Amino acid sequence: MQHLTILGSTGSIGASTLDVVARHPDKFRITALTANRQVELLFRQCRQFKPRYAVLLDEDAAAQLRSLVREAGLVTEVLSGAAALDQVCVLPEVDTVMAAIVGAAGLQPTLAAARAGKKILLANKETLVMAGNVFMDAVRASGSALMPIDSEHNAIFQALPRGYDGNLASNGVRRILLTASGGPFCDTPLSELHNVTPEQACAHPNWVMGRKISVDSATMMNKGLEVIEAHWLFNASADIIQVVVHPQSVIHSLVEYVDGSVMAQLGNPDMRTPIAYGLAYPERIDSGVAPLDLFKVATMNFFAPDFVRFPCLSLAYQALRSAGTAPAILNAANEVAVEAFLGKQIPFLSIPGVIEAVLDALPVHAVGCLGDVLNADGEARRAAQQQIQRVAG
Ligand code: NAD
Ligand code: MG
Repeated sequence: MQHLTILGSTGSIGASTLDVVARHPDKFRITALTANRQVELLFRQCRQFKPRYAVLLDEDAAAQLRSLVREAGLVTEVLSGAAALDQVCVLPEVDTVMAAIVGAAGLQPTLAAARAGKKILLANKETLVMAGNVFMDAVRASGSALMPIDSEHNAIFQALPRGYDGNLASNGVRRILLTASGGPFCDTPLSELHNVTPEQACAHPNWVMGRKISVDSATMMNKGLEVIEAHWLFNASADIIQVVVHPQSVIHSLVEYVDGSVMAQLGNPDMRTPIAYGLAYPERIDSGVAPLDLFKVATMNFFAPDFVRFPCLSLAYQALRSAGTAPAILNAANEVAVEAFLGKQIPFLSIPGVIEAVLDALPVHAVGCLGDVLNADGEARRAAQQQIQRVAG
């Protein structure tokens, strides 16, 4: 029996994880569920999965959940606040932590899980973008098993030799090919992009996801963050990570070897596949995902990414090459800019401009510890807010 904590259980990845868990009551038990402030949904999840703990970041929301849980006669203990998120990741009875909070808020509890040596199912890519070396050091020091859940990285993990030791060259790997759908605006005329709404940006052609990652997909910052994520997960330099636009999202990524072999992982675009793989590794379990019908797919296309249409992708490569705190600055500026776009403060096309201005304005420092990352994150958020005032005013 594997005991799980799910960080961000009310989100898109959280719900998909619970869907897989519910199919295998003999294999998985939920110890803790956590969310930001979604009382109703977390209560329904508590009724179904009977966790020992439920955490809401928000104090008032936690008080509401506490009375619902009491009225329903559930044994679940309701906690609140950021420290409680860390706490439910390090409990001795927890084997595995699904890290599915969105954004920088996911960093500290995920790091706590790594330091405690838990198996980590990593959906929160921002953890690696912000604090790649700190996090990977913690994983190595504690002996955590780290399973990439992002579909591309899960595909790469599957296409690398079993027990990959972190040395691509000695394993005969020449390149990592990271596929991208291109998002909802791949073919939209550039002149129309200025007026796109948050609703249009969140309507992804192939995947149903949270709003932040949906906007990231529309700007292709998501792929940029994933390039940085791949760098840390697989010890791959920016030069050998190639983005390939593949609008059907059937091939989830590929690994090219020196003998000319290219290994790919295919499947329907449904996050339950990588989640089930991460949960059961090295076994395979049913995920509820329909079999891939290649006759229905019929055609697969591949294009080089358009760096003019998607400047965020270049900014991410640049930040990875600058190293140190540059990716944390990129990530923070992006989160603030996306929030401002979703709040209709700035137009879609201003997102990359805000990020670039912040990257240009702030000095890059080496990252020695988590504090260095958090300082850069805070500084970049303040600079991004100022930049947004300028754009909006
Ligand atoms: P989402 O917005 O649907 O859900 C986010 C979850 O995090 C919710 O449960 C929310 O309550 C919680 N949360 C938000 N802010 C919080 C805070 N400050 N403190 C504590 N909890 C907070 O997001 P999602 O689409 O499920 O994405 C989650 C993560 O997984 C992201 O990092 C995303 O990049 C990554 N990811 C998602 C997908 C996908 O298909 N959705 C695919 C690959 C990677
Ligand atoms: Mg992805």
